[in-house]
Amino acid sequence: MNKLAEQYIRKEALPLIFCPGCGDGTVLNSFIRTIDEMGIREDLACVSGIGCSSWTPVYLDVDVLHTIHGRAIPFAEGLKVSRPDKKIVVFTGDGDGTGIGGNHLIHAARRNIDLTVVMLTNNIYGMTGGQKAPTTPMGAITKTSPRGNDERPFDVYNLVVGAGATFFARWTAGHPVQLEKALKDAINHKGFSFVEVLSQCPTQAGRSMFNTKDPYKMIQWYKENTYMHKKGDVAKIKDGKMPLGTLYVEDDVVEYTDTLQSIKEEAQCK
Ligand code: SF4
Repeated sequence: MNKLAEQYIRKEALPLIFCPGCGDGTVLNSFIRTIDEMGIREDLACVSGIGCSSWTPVYLDVDVLHTIHGRAIPFAEGLKVSRPDKKIVVFTGDGDGTGIGGNHLIHAARRNIDLTVVMLTNNIYGMTGGQKAPTTPMGAITKTSPRGNDERPFDVYNLVVGAGATFFARWTAGHPVQLEKALKDAINHKGFSFVEVLSQCPTQAGRSMFNTKDPYKMIQWYKENTYMHKKGDVAKIKDGKMPLGTLYVEDDVVEYTDTLQSIKEEAQCK
């Protein structure tokens, strides 16, 4: 075990549940390096829902709440309201985050509450056996769309930023260094920040959507089907390719726990 893993991994939680070649392990690695460089271990609390990606923080020897399907964000909001001093990072998947928990996601973004949500998008429900998710591309074959997905997927950027998020970055699990920088910026951002990681799932998405279970080929596919966003450009899907990078930052928007604090102080003065 390397030095950082030795320091941060809870050995009693091992072995990892991730399949070999799963992108979620890379994200865990980037996150460990992020919190180590930021020196925020004692100030940090991680919250997750249900699904493969929600296991990511469970292996860390930090404060972690592993909650229920789709409800990581309301747990995190409650924690933030009671402990505004904490840096809170939510780990979710595209099914957990935009499907079961979609309503919580848009309202937390609307409030601009100071949370960082890391969503590991694998375009499918991995842990439950490969059902279509709200991010599954149209036409994709899954366990619940054997003739091809007949629904349009969410454009997660437009969904989250449209709802009021004030920071949005997207990378793939094949960009661990860039991801680390994005995680730092998101955690430092005061307000609702969202980092989407396109994370390969060789077991379920690989088998049904990518026609390969080779993680390397899946990472190559992500790289070929994305492009680097240029600062100042509108972040949109071009020729079927998704933009990568820091796609949106808005400072100076009132943050929810600050508003609550002002209301409390005003009430105490009366
Ligand atoms: Fe990763 Fe997919 Fe395996 Fe889940 S099912 S651990 S997302 S490879």
